[in-house]
Amino acid sequence: MTEPVITLRHFFERARAGELTGVRCGKCGALAIPPKELCPECGERAWAPVPLAGAGTIASYTVIRVAPRGHAADVPYAVAVVKLTEGVSLLGRVVDIPFENLAIGLPVRFRPLVKDGETSVGFGPA
Ligand SMILES: [Zn+2]
Repeated sequence: MTEPVITLRHFFERARAGELTGVRCGKCGALAIPPKELCPECGERAWAPVPLAGAGTIASYTVIRVAPRGHAADVPYAVAVVKLTEGVSLLGRVVDIPFENLAIGLPVRFRPLVKDGETSVGFGPA
């Protein structure tokens, strides 16, 4: 019996519970997160879910000071691309880390952010 491929909806449901889940290609072994329709490496659709530890380091970051429409109350805030220990990268909002402490290579840990019933990816201190 094959386990159902994790969908974006499942990804965010599990993320809300504090679990990061990637998908691994059954053909070429590539790891992807969040889930994608087709493997970006080989074009196949042979995904299997893989639990991820949620630990990583900042690969790049930026501080948002001009808010997108409807988010004026949120600025300033930082977003970062985090390279997880499993080798995949994920974009998320930085929480509980002062801007002046942000640095490439800083260890961080996944943290689900829930606002107005929507779950998004956050990263806090490791
Ligand atoms: Zn593949």
